[in-house]
Amino acid sequence: MSAPPTADSYGASAPPYSAFDNMPGYEGTLSGGGGGFLPPPMPSFPSPSPQPEPSQPHWTIPSISEETARDALALFASSKCCYSKAPVKDGVISSMEAFNTYRYRLETFTESRSTEWSQKPYNGEPVDAFTQQPPGPWDIVAQAPTFFKDSKQVIKVPYTSSLKQCHDCLGMGRSPCKTCSGAGNKVCWVCNGSGFRHGEDRCHHCNGRGRDNCAQCNGHGSKICSTCNGKRQLLACINLTIKWTNNSSDYVVEQSSGLLLENLNKVTGKELFNDSRYLVYPVMGFPDPNVVSAAERLIREHQTEYSQTSRILQQRQTIELIPITKVNYRWKGKTHVYFVYGNEFKVNADNYPATCCCAVM
Ligand SMILES: [Zn+2]
Ligand SMILES: [Zn+2]
Ligand SMILES: [Zn+2]
Repeated sequence: MSAPPTADSYGASAPPYSAFDNMPGYEGTLSGGGGGFLPPPMPSFPSPSPQPEPSQPHWTIPSISEETARDALALFASSKCCYSKAPVKDGVISSMEAFNTYRYRLETFTESRSTEWSQKPYNGEPVDAFTQQPPGPWDIVAQAPTFFKDSKQVIKVPYTSSLKQCHDCLGMGRSPCKTCSGAGNKVCWVCNGSGFRHGEDRCHHCNGRGRDNCAQCNGHGSKICSTCNGKRQLLACINLTIKWTNNSSDYVVEQSSGLLLENLNKVTGKELFNDSRYLVYPVMGFPDPNVVSAAERLIREHQTEYSQTSRILQQRQTIELIPITKVNYRWKGKTHVYFVYGNEFKVNADNYPATCCCAVM
């Protein structure tokens, strides 16, 4: 004979999987997340439309003036609390070289869908499971997302709501108080259960009972079940989670200025090309072949990777020209170098000669 189940024989939160109905079209859905991932149905690719070749960008290399270079360094020095401005004031720029480079960026905006069972205290909502076949997970209409912005929507799948007896309290609506083990009272802490203090005096705290009402359950010995909120029943339904994700990859053409590539992550460049459509095609005829082959590779990678796990909604490819100027200057008989880069005229001066103003005074 097996013992009847008690409230403690189940885990505190999730009911066993078998407690849920096997919902047609949602058989793999589990409770508590995981396992509910839904590969999209075969996408209907549009027939590739001939793409007009990106117009040959007409650009000039934005070279910066000595004044801009000097101002940028002054701003940089003043942003560091202890840097001296002397090299900016007294240094003499000897040469400026342009090492402008390209950044190719591919963004693939995807939608993915997953389902999981959820449950909440029953409050009289309609119970509609099995009254109709639920719509397929990819047939449910979601809000229109903003392209290239991450967001998320959770939708209750229609015709999946059903009632369950609460697994935590076995439908009692209450569960035993853990503090007093269900007794409703505890040994009086003042008289230690004797009912008396100092010999003959009756304990005023418990009026001589020797026991004290449990404050946690107000003496009831049980508490309202927190899982069903005392409703005895739970409403179970399938939730569909829709996630929109912008997946972005960059390729920056190597340059030999000495400025590390990661510095360029923080700046913008001049946009030469911007192409946004359902599925982009690799750029053709761009002057730098490195950009062309990076575009081919990244587009192949993105379309393979993201069409399997999600639905691609839109892609965008951009090419920026990032200005990099290497500035050589002399100060106190020595030659020093700094870089000015990006539309923001950001400065990199790792070897700034006067990093402590007190030392050069
Ligand atoms: Zn007492
Ligand atoms: Zn209690
Ligand atoms: Zn309950």
